Amino acid sequence: MSINIAKPELLAPAGNLEKLQAALIYGADAVYFGGKNFSLRAFGENFTRDEILQAVEFTHGLRKKIYAAVNVFAHNADFDALTDYLKFLSVAGVDAVLVSDLGVLNLARELNLKIHVSTQANVTNWRAAKFFHELGATRIVLARELTRAEILEIKQNCAAELEIFIHGAMCISYSGRCWLSKYLTGRDANLGACTHSCRWKYNLVEETRPNEFFPVGEDERGSYVMNSKDLCLLPCLDKVIQSGVASLKIEGRMKSVNYVAGVVKVYRAAIDSYCAGDFKLRGEWLAELDKVAHRPYTTGFFLSDGEPTEIYSTSKPSRSSNFLGIVRDFDAATMTATIEQRGKFQVNQRVEFFQPTGKTFSQTITSMHDADGEEIFSAPHAQQIVKIPVAEPVEIWSLMRS
Ligand code: SF4
Repeated sequence: MSINIAKPELLAPAGNLEKLQAALIYGADAVYFGGKNFSLRAFGENFTRDEILQAVEFTHGLRKKIYAAVNVFAHNADFDALTDYLKFLSVAGVDAVLVSDLGVLNLARELNLKIHVSTQANVTNWRAAKFFHELGATRIVLARELTRAEILEIKQNCAAELEIFIHGAMCISYSGRCWLSKYLTGRDANLGACTHSCRWKYNLVEETRPNEFFPVGEDERGSYVMNSKDLCLLPCLDKVIQSGVASLKIEGRMKSVNYVAGVVKVYRAAIDSYCAGDFKLRGEWLAELDKVAHRPYTTGFFLSDGEPTEIYSTSKPSRSSNFLGIVRDFDAATMTATIEQRGKFQVNQRVEFFQPTGKTFSQTITSMHDADGEEIFSAPHAQQIVKIPVAEPVEIWSLMRS
């Protein structure tokens, strides 16, 4: 079977309504979200039913797509509530539901919902992909532990759309098969309650010396033996697109607006430049991916090049920029931007404006006024409305950062 290469969908995480809007405005073709129950982010903000209706309306208003994650492994007792929720999603008009449990898949099929099989279902081979397709799934989100050659083979043997992760945090354990958190804390990753135990720093303890911790690391910094780097397939995005997958997914429903906007804008530009025939890795893209919270990047399993994918020194993510506010309005006559505060800033501070489509520009804050027009010198209050003069016209939804 030959592979026709079409422009892939760029799919972004939506942890709340604001992040959903940012993802779409910064260039995502589609977003995925979880409701208050039944998605694998029990500690995320997640969407109420009212917010789901608003999210669908906003997304469809931009002629983009919205998918609902319903990817828990359900128990018998869950099905009354699940039936009610899936019926609601059907009426709300979501474009597909992401499922991993066969019972939930069966229910979604009965309710005529479009079905995407979640990565949580662990599809690692073409027979599994084909079987899910025969069961009614139109798209399969492949397990993250696959090489490019394996993805190509699945594509050649399965007519369903394929989706792969291209960016974000990774599990050191196999997608959807991790019991570490449940074993150590009682909180089950397969029910969305992971404590990220793989990121912890581990020592060795001898039974009769309970307060003595013997380091098991490679050096004095300790041992994070299960702490994975973050996935970033930007350097090989040409090969990713050539593999013929239909959708390229960014991980991170728990991440910030700054993260979603930054990562989406980079991949939007990279996909568009590949499709325009001039893809080459640009320094500005890598610089932007360094500004959002991340651990060291890896291409994971995709290139199967044997590069180490663990970080032994720290489990803390780093970022090279601070998110200060969102531009909510711009008055061209007075060249004044209205900013909703997210981090402290003050007069004389150097800031940059990261825009949905325009160029990033930097300037110094020369003066500030509050919503009542009073002059102020700093903005310490969360979500405070502040007006500042800007050096260039600035798009609404731009992020102000330092
Ligand atoms: S403990 Fe780590 S590997 Fe296991 S599910 Fe949680 S994040 Fe993934």
